[in-house]
Formats: sequence, C-alpha cells, structure tokens
Amino acid sequence: MRFLPVFLDLQTGPVLLIGGGELARAKLRLLAAAGARVRWYATDGNHDVSGLDAAEAARIELARGDPLAADLRGVIAILCAGAGDIGTAMSARAKAVGLPVNVMDDLAHSTFIFPAIVDRGDVVVAVGTGGASPVVARRVRERIEAALPARIGDLATFIGRWRKSIHGRIPEFPLRRRFWERVVDGPIGALVLAGRKDEAEAALKDIPDPSAFAGAQASGQAEGRVTLVGAGPGDPDLLTIKALRALQDADVVFYDELVSSEILDRARRDASRVPVGRRVGKPGIGQDAINKLLIEAAKSGQRAVRLKGGDPFVFGRGGEEVEALREAGVAYSVVPGITAGLGAAAQFEVPLTFRHEALRITFLTAHKAKDAESVDWSTLTDEKMTVVVYMGMTAAPSVRAGLLAAGRSPQTPVGVLARVTRPDSQAVVGTLDELPALIQKIDGGPAILIIGDVVAHSAPWRQSNLAQLVSYFQVAAE
Ligand code: SAH
Repeated sequence: MRFLPVFLDLQTGPVLLIGGGELARAKLRLLAAAGARVRWYATDGNHDVSGLDAAEAARIELARGDPLAADLRGVIAILCAGAGDIGTAMSARAKAVGLPVNVMDDLAHSTFIFPAIVDRGDVVVAVGTGGASPVVARRVRERIEAALPARIGDLATFIGRWRKSIHGRIPEFPLRRRFWERVVDGPIGALVLAGRKDEAEAALKDIPDPSAFAGAQASGQAEGRVTLVGAGPGDPDLLTIKALRALQDADVVFYDELVSSEILDRARRDASRVPVGRRVGKPGIGQDAINKLLIEAAKSGQRAVRLKGGDPFVFGRGGEEVEALREAGVAYSVVPGITAGLGAAAQFEVPLTFRHEALRITFLTAHKAKDAESVDWSTLTDEKMTVVVYMGMTAAPSVRAGLLAAGRSPQTPVGVLARVTRPDSQAVVGTLDELPALIQKIDGGPAILIIGDVVAHSAPWRQSNLAQLVSYFQVAAE
C-alpha cells in the first residue's frame, strides 16, 4: 500500500483547481458536491459552471492570471485536470511548499490520488488501486454499491445525532458499543433503512433504560424478525438487491416449492432451509402451520426469511402471513419481487400495455374450474385489456369459455408461457379458441397465460408466423 486513504475536511480552506474541458469540470462537480470551496483557473479560458446548483456555484471562485503565480496561502490541496504542461510545473510548486497535489493521470507528479467512491451521505467508501487501474477500482465500487443499503448514510447520521446523549447515559464503553450494535442490527436500524426515520426516532426515545437494552443483547436475546421476500420467477439474477441482502442476513429461510435451488444458494451458507410449500404429489403443511413457524422463529430471536416465488403479494398469500405476524407482535418487512407475469412479459417480449392497443392489465387467478366459474368474466370484455392468468393450466377450458361468453374474440392472441426465466422455459402461442390445446403442448408447469392483442407483438408469435410463412412457401414451391 503506497497511498493511505484519509478523509480530507474540505471546510477548512479552498482547493485550487487548474485545468479546462470536461476533465476539469468533472472534478469541479465532485468537489462542489462534497461542499468544497474551489478556486478555479480555467486554462482554456472557459469558466462555464452550468450544471452546478446555485449554492455550489457560489462556492466557486473564478480565478484569472497565471496559476503558477497563484497565492497559495490557506489552500488545502492542488488539483490539475486537463491542465497540460502546467500540471508538472504546478506539482513542483506544491511539493516545494508541502501542499498535497494531484495531477490527473500522472502518478509521478501526484502526492495524492482520487479513489473511486461510494457516497451515501455520512457513509463514504473509498476504493483505490494505488493508481494502477481505475477500471478495477470502479468494478469494486459497483460491488460495494450493490451490497450497501441505500440509506446506510442516514443510519450513520441518525446515530451521530444520538451519540452524545447516549454517551452520557451509558458511561461504560463495551456496553455502549453493544447498545449501538443492537440499534443498528435491530428494528430501529431497520426502520431508518426503510426510510421511516420518525418512527425510529420515537422507538429510540422510548427506550427507558439504555443500559438494560444493551444488556439484553449480551445475554444472547437477539431481536427476531421476519422478512417476506419475493424471489422472482426463477432466474436468480432477477432477485432485487434488497432480497439478496435479506437472504445473506438470514438465520433461517422458509421457502416455497416455486423457489429454485439457484436462488436458495444465494442465502447465507449457514442459514437453515425449511421447505414449506406443496411438493409434487404431497400437500403443503398448510398456511396456519407456516404462520406458526414464522412466529416461533422470530420469537426465538432468529432473522427469518419467508421466500416466495414471484412477488409475495401477488397470489402468494403474503397478506395472510403479514396479518398473522402483526397479530403476534412480530417485527416484519416485505421485499417485493418480480411477479411471474412481468418475468414472462420481459422474456418473451410481450408488451403488456401498448399505445392504442392495450390500456389496462388484469392479473387474475383461476386455480380450479370452480375458481374460474366464480370469476366475473363480464368485467373482462374490453378488447384493450391484457389478461394475465395465474394458476390457469387446469382451468384453461373454463378461462376460454368465460372470455368467449364475455364477448372476447375467439381469434384473440394467447401465450402460454411456462417456467419463465428458467433455463428450460417454454412458450406456446395461438388463439383464445385454441387455448386448451395449447396447454397440452406444455411440458410442465408452472405456466402463466397472457391473453390479448399484445401477444401478437411477442417473440414466439413473430417466430410462429414466420414458421407458418416459411412452410407456406415451401409447400408452394413443391
Ligand atoms: N407470487 C407468485 C405467484 C404464485 S401463484 C408471483 O408473483 O409470480 C403460482 C402461479 O404463478 C403458477 O401457477 C404460475 O401461473 C405462476 N408462475 C410462477 N412462477 C412461474 C414461472 N417461472 N413461469 C410461469 N409461471 C409462473
């Protein structure tokens, strides 16, 4: 390590920026955003500061004359970006008076270099490669960006505001550290990260005895909670960053039959995995039993993840689980996932809405013929409505009958999209009239139906039309 990362206080004096063009402007934006006062020598004479807000622009002093003759009193650092030969000369001047200097892309003339940064307010992460490869630094930064909660900076600010008062109330350092660990890792931290600062503030205020609160953690009584996580339709890369974080934080994962093993593999290695869904040929353990398991896990201090295919609140019974948790007084949160209908649409290029063609979408379920009979199909007559049917394989004949009775054209395009976003996905397209026959062509579920004119835009539809056209010409040629 040749360069030690340190954090420079930019409030203490101006930074001298020398240079022009986009390179200098990029540095200007960076410094301005960090609250720096900047004295800027534009070597190309162009002092345009558009793009900065008024407060930032007000801190920029447009300097004229020869930068090599600049008064360096009070200056805290010198920066040359797009400054040409002046950079080298300026570096010598800075070194002579012991001021930190950076000449962009010129390690030999720099005494400090800029890291790639992750900026989350009070939380800032600096990534350096000793100047060897900014591209590698940026890749590392991207990984850190993905791993850090968006509001981690708010959490630091929140704690910063309370530090003094807690310091006064818990004089012992180890206990104080445990207090903050418990705040950060528990529901109060979760509230801040969820953007619910006021509630976090109230919860912290409500702690009657901070030492006792910290002590509870010491005795191993961690704060349990349940996170309902949408796992998406199958492709693990479709997990949200938040879902990934919850999985990596989990002590136990209760998962559905729809969740693929690739996704389960993203959970923390030593988290226990408990299947609670229906297995082929075997009934599930039942919703009440699942609720009970979730509550027990949280009450025993575990961070439980309830992992569901697609989105937890789209035909996923997430609502019932949340209600049970709320009733039991268990802390919970919900992380949305990509629902199967959206995964199918993206993969097979079905635009669910389309200008002038499809102005509404209905998501409905028709698990059994009986369910399909209880659907009020008359509300689905609108030709400009795309209908997405979950769990519609068995009830397909009833779906067809219902929509035809409602007056939908038998020629309405239909897609039966199976195992979407998985390596073995399958699409069959045709018309509403043919729906039951289309289902027969599917080699196994889960499958989703998309019904509406928009299906004619889809990739499988275009391919099948092409195939029909080709065979027509082949027949014609013979
Ligand atoms: N909560 C889930 C839906 C659960 S209901 C979600 O938001 O996606 C189960 C139904 O979802 C299945 O019968 C099927 O219609 C649909 N489904 C789930 N995963 C699917 C996939 N990978 N491909 C096609 N359909 C899927």
